[in-house]
Amino acid sequence: MGGVLCAKMDSMSSKVRLAQRESTAAGIDAERAWQQIVRRDAAAEFLYGVTTTGVFCRPGCGSRLPLRRNVRFFGSAAAAQAAGFRACKRCNPLLEPTDVLAKVRSHIERNAERKVSLDELGHVAGLSPFTVQRMFKQAMGVSPLQYQRALRASGLRKALKRGASVTDAMYAAGFGSASRAHEGAALGMTPARFAAGGRGEQIGYAAERTAFGWMAVGATARGLCWLALAATKDEAEASVRAEFPAAELRRDAALKEWVEAAVRAVTEAGAAKDALPLDLPLDLRGTAFQLRVWQALRAIPRGETRSYTELAREMGVPRSTRAVARACATNRVAVVVPCHRVVGAGGALTGYRWGVERKRRLLEAEGSF
Ligand SMILES: [Zn+2]
Repeated sequence: MGGVLCAKMDSMSSKVRLAQRESTAAGIDAERAWQQIVRRDAAAEFLYGVTTTGVFCRPGCGSRLPLRRNVRFFGSAAAAQAAGFRACKRCNPLLEPTDVLAKVRSHIERNAERKVSLDELGHVAGLSPFTVQRMFKQAMGVSPLQYQRALRASGLRKALKRGASVTDAMYAAGFGSASRAHEGAALGMTPARFAAGGRGEQIGYAAERTAFGWMAVGATARGLCWLALAATKDEAEASVRAEFPAAELRRDAALKEWVEAAVRAVTEAGAAKDALPLDLPLDLRGTAFQLRVWQALRAIPRGETRSYTELAREMGVPRSTRAVARACATNRVAVVVPCHRVVGAGGALTGYRWGVERKRRLLEAEGSF
């Protein structure tokens, strides 16, 4: 079939087309996929088969790295099986990642009274402890151990006992981060988007002067839902009303702490580096795709920047650069969801919802401009 296609084109474009086809078999960029296998990237969404063993694996599998020339890429377990490969017993690629996560998470929640080891979680999931750790962290933003600690520290355990749904309890416990919400979305528990103008929401707000201008923060009972930069206090406060005109708004001086935490995320190396500081829960709401993009933004370390193309590639959606850019532009929580770390190709400062000059100052403070 490929031969027929190529014959219809002039020789120049057929060469280009051939190269593209080789690198995108099953929609997978072979070079990038190979790098993900080398890194044992647990978030990678393809599978690979090894021709010499006849076994197929997840990229995060802890088994010995095969030779590049013996590797075939597959978009699904069914495709790998159809090609004659059998599933690896170690990384169990027949299990859906969301099933594994749901299993692991509910095991932790059911045993919140005690410490659950990684070995035990590996046993529950039928995967190596290493694989469980990577998968969990990729999807949830925190390690299984951090999750357990947070459970113990929070009201989640009590809420679960009262019979609240896990999603409600998660949010009540301050777990409304992008990654959690994304994971929820994968399990069919997508949190409601903000109703038009925040109708039915109670939102507290505060504005505080910072080194980067005035910052306004808004928070629901679940967590931070708004962070804007402005030139004056009035402008900062007006931004909350403009975003959530239908919400019940009230001033809340206690929220000034959140401004300080956001500033620390920019000015202090190491602050907010590890996914989700538990004292700064986020209430991000959007489509599953927006949440994925916001999660990817939170994964860009302080002091680094990405182009939209790089971000799309890191998310495994290299053809969706424009959609990624749109999702960045709709970010409601500046600084904490660091959309300022996305720059034009070549490092040029591109647009910023809160002003390019402020973006420059944020990046300067982070040492990346
Ligand atoms: Zn394997």
